[in-house]
Amino acid sequence: MSTGDPHASRPLRVRMAPSPTGYFHVGSARTALYNWCVARRGHGTFVLRIEDTDRERHQEEQYQGILDALSWLGINWDEGPYRQSERSAFYQANLDLLFDGGYLYACDCTREHVEARTKGKATPGYDGHCRNRGLGRGPGRALRFAVPEGGTTVVHDVIRGDVEFANHTIEDFVVAKSNGDALFVLAVVTDDREMAISHVIRAEEHLPTAPKAVLLWEALNSLGQEHRDGVVMPLPLFAHLPVLVNERRQKISKRRDRVAIEDYRSEGYLPEAIGNYLALLGWSFPDGRELFTRDELVEAFRLEDVNHSPAFFDVQKLRHFNGVYIRQLSDAEFTSRCRTWADEAQDQLGTSVYDSPEWLALAPLVRERVCVLGEVPGYIEFLRGGDLSIDGGSWDKAVAKDEEAGSILSAALSGLKELPGDRWRAGEIKEVITAVAAAHGRKLGKAQAPVRVATMGSTVGLPLFESLQVLGRDAVLRRLSHALDQLRANMQVPGAGQACGPGSGSGKGG
Ligand code: GLU
Repeated sequence: MSTGDPHASRPLRVRMAPSPTGYFHVGSARTALYNWCVARRGHGTFVLRIEDTDRERHQEEQYQGILDALSWLGINWDEGPYRQSERSAFYQANLDLLFDGGYLYACDCTREHVEARTKGKATPGYDGHCRNRGLGRGPGRALRFAVPEGGTTVVHDVIRGDVEFANHTIEDFVVAKSNGDALFVLAVVTDDREMAISHVIRAEEHLPTAPKAVLLWEALNSLGQEHRDGVVMPLPLFAHLPVLVNERRQKISKRRDRVAIEDYRSEGYLPEAIGNYLALLGWSFPDGRELFTRDELVEAFRLEDVNHSPAFFDVQKLRHFNGVYIRQLSDAEFTSRCRTWADEAQDQLGTSVYDSPEWLALAPLVRERVCVLGEVPGYIEFLRGGDLSIDGGSWDKAVAKDEEAGSILSAALSGLKELPGDRWRAGEIKEVITAVAAAHGRKLGKAQAPVRVATMGSTVGLPLFESLQVLGRDAVLRRLSHALDQLRANMQVPGAGQACGPGSGSGKGG
C-alpha cells in the first residue's frame, strides 16, 4: 500500500467500527468512505463491525440506523456486520492470556483513592499503586496493563508518519472493568487481530489510544497468540483522519452543528453528492479536481494523499455540490428521486404530483433551481388544486402596497380571458402580460409581480408564463378573479408562508 510498508504483502483488510449513537455522523460517513475506497482500490476486504459494547444502552434501532445510513450512501461491506456485544469470549480469552503472561495486574483502587494519592503530582493518571501488590483477579478488581517504564511506543501512521509516545506518559490503563467486562481498547485490538486487519483507518480522536493498542498488540504477539489462520499478526498500519471543523474552527458536534447524515437525507441531499463532498474533507486530488463519480474516486483515492490538518465541513459547499449533482440527473431520475424523497419525508404535497403531466412539463425548470430535493415542493405547490396558499409577505409587497395592482390584475384577467384554450401557451400568455405592462407604462417584470402572486402564491418561483401554461386556463382565470375579489374587499390574505423553496428566498424570480 504505502511505500515503506513492511506489510505490503499482507492481504488488505480494513474495517469500519462505528458505535451506535442514534445518528450517523458525517465524520463516520467519511471514515467509512475512505476505508471503502482503500478496500475497493486495493481489491481488499471491507469489514463492518459495530462497537455496541453495551447492548442495553444501544438499541436495536440504532444498530439498524448504521446499516441504513451506509447502504443509503452506497457503501457496501464484504464481511460483517460483526457485533462486539457477541464477541466477549474473544476478549475474555485475551484477558486470561495477558494476565497469565504477566502483562496485566489486578487493581482494587477506587477513583477517589487514586485522586487522593495523585493530587498535586506532576504526572496525572494512575500511579501504579497496585502494580506490585500481586492481587488475584476477582469481583471488584479491574485489570490494568503494566506499561513499560522506559522507552517509547511508536504508532506507524500513513498520514502522520511515525508518532512516538514516551512510555512514561502512558498510564497503566484499564483493560477490564471491576465487573470483568473488557474495555474498548482491548476489544478493538482483539477484534482487529482476530479479523486480520491490515490498516486501521479512523478518526483522529483515536490517536491517543493508539499507543495502548500497539502495546497490547505487541504483548499478544510476544505470548505467541496467533491469528486464527496460524499467523502471528504484524501491527496494522494506522491512518488517523483529520478532524472536521465548522467555520469557527471548532470540531463539529451534534450540539452545535448539523452532523447527522439522516438530517441531510431528509432535507433532500443526494447520497452521491454527499459522498463526493466528504471525500474532499482531508483528501484532494493533485490537480485540484473536485467532482468524482464513485468509480473515479476509487481510482483516484490514495490514503497517502490525505493530510492531517483540520478539514472545514462547509455546509454551503455541500449544498452547492448537491445542486450540481441534481442538475446532472435525467428527467426520469430526478422525478424518481423527488418521489422517493417525498415519500420518506412524508411531504405534505404527497408523491402523486410527480406522476402528473404538469410535473413532467415543469421538472426541467425546477431542476435548474433547487439545491436540495426538499426545496422542490415549494416550487410546485401552486399546482395543487383548491385554494392557493399565498405567501403573506409577497402579497403585501407585490399586491397590497402596489396601487396599480388591481388595475393590472383586472387587465390581465380580461386579456387572458380572450385567449382560447387552444392558444393557451407560454408565448401567447407572455404577449398578453406584455401588453398589460405597456398599458401601465411598466417593464414586464414589474407588471408580472402581482400576477405571479395572485396565481402562484409568491414573488419568486418558476418562470411565470411556462407555469401559467401548465397550471391551465381555468385555474389561472379563477385565481386572478379571486385575488381581485380579495383586493376589492380590502382583505389581508392569510399569510400561509412557505417553509422552503421559492418562498424562502432561495429561488430565482421568473
Ligand atoms: N467505535 C469507534 C467510533 O465509533 C471507532 C474505533 C476504531 O475505529 O478503532 O468512533
